[in-house]
Amino acid sequence: MNKENSYITDEIHEECGVLGVYDLDGNDVLSTLYYGLFALQHRGQESCGIAVSDTNGPKGKVLSCKGMGLISEVCTDESLENLKGNIGVGHVRYSGAGENSIHNTQPLVLNYIKGTLCIAQNGSIINTEELREELEYTGAIFQTTIDTEVIAYHIARERLTSKTVEEAVTKAMKKLVGAYSLVIMSPRKLIGARDPFGFHPLCIGRKGSSYILASETAALNAVDAEFVRDVLPGEVVMINKDGIYSDTSLCTNNHARCIFEYIYFARPDSHIDGVSVYNSRIMAGRILAQTNPVEADVVVGVPDSGNAAALGYALESGIPFGMAFVKNSYVGRTFIKPKQAARTSSVRIKLNVLPEVVEGKRVVMIDDSIVRGTTCAKIVKMLKKAGATEVHVRISSPPFLYPCYYGTDVPTGDQLIARNNTIDQIRQMIGADSLGYLALDRLNDIIGKGMGYCDACFTGNYPTKLPKCVSKEEKK
Ligand code: SF4
Repeated sequence: MNKENSYITDEIHEECGVLGVYDLDGNDVLSTLYYGLFALQHRGQESCGIAVSDTNGPKGKVLSCKGMGLISEVCTDESLENLKGNIGVGHVRYSGAGENSIHNTQPLVLNYIKGTLCIAQNGSIINTEELREELEYTGAIFQTTIDTEVIAYHIARERLTSKTVEEAVTKAMKKLVGAYSLVIMSPRKLIGARDPFGFHPLCIGRKGSSYILASETAALNAVDAEFVRDVLPGEVVMINKDGIYSDTSLCTNNHARCIFEYIYFARPDSHIDGVSVYNSRIMAGRILAQTNPVEADVVVGVPDSGNAAALGYALESGIPFGMAFVKNSYVGRTFIKPKQAARTSSVRIKLNVLPEVVEGKRVVMIDDSIVRGTTCAKIVKMLKKAGATEVHVRISSPPFLYPCYYGTDVPTGDQLIARNNTIDQIRQMIGADSLGYLALDRLNDIIGKGMGYCDACFTGNYPTKLPKCVSKEEKK
């Protein structure tokens, strides 16, 4: 993302959402893929794709539709017309790692000696460089700059000495370090795999004769499927005509779920590893009210993820909850495109304040995070312009201090406002009357005790080694 665009958005992005469907009775899966992906659009808006095949047809015949943009822009009636098949995978992408180009769109379709592999990934592996080199020195030529291709090559290579494709996936996973939730389509099987830390979610659903693998349970709801269970961190599941097979040989109890999935990325109507995303946001708001109380007249949330946390704050503090913001839901990728867009108006296009809610009032404004502070400052200004007498900002996460290497675009050190400024300095910079963050030691309370989670962007305690290219300075 270039500097100008990141200034406009000033928010953290997820990299991807994945989906896989296999209908055991041979029914067409295209509409389930389409609507399921639609429900995952919030996880990536820069490119998307669908690939389907027929498990009873010729091996290796894969039909796909991929492109830059939203699902509604890429997957038109015309482009989907011939995509018939009873097995398929889909992907939505935000280009955190690997440039944003048509070559990097997923699912990747790979033809090799054993047939075809179609693969879609959410997350980032951190030893891509080493794994890529290992392949390049043995003659591999890469067509993309994404680590998904490196993973696919390693699976294909392991497949040559494995009895089954799922065995090859397990063997390849032993080499991967980092975050990955994968859906893989082979000519006769659908496979799902989640890294042993369980950074990003992956769940299993069922609708009639169809099995579904999805990044979030919200995608299952969207296609009227039943939730079966989460894929365990480290688990490989294989679905074929005989049902589900599971390999848990790489599962451990050492988990590092991305805590930011609960705070911001995932939809509030999703459950991740048995925890309601909505409830975790309500809890974050309640904790903020306990730890950062203030006298005020109304609590408002910055849409979308700030809303549930604001409700939690209101419930705990007894201060009335108000809907102060009207969001333009139709601002998509095209909005980020124009480089000449007036910077001052960018937030206003996305968000408008209702003076009826804030005029003459002391306002508590809840947001999920502050990255550079530019957007937060604009929103505070908008509230004051609309007549708020005081604006007290409460953030439902701790301050961002370190970059993320696991598939989200938390930027490096100096771009993070909290890295070089005290809380009071940040308060002044955003023009707030007071500022409070969720305390680090209360993060555990938002998802429940005993759930291993990653908080490296707040603490610098990375659960894995770091990529080779990260300098000593950046590691501090
Ligand atoms: S570093 Fe932060 S954003 Fe990245 S996986 Fe960990 S908690 Fe999530």
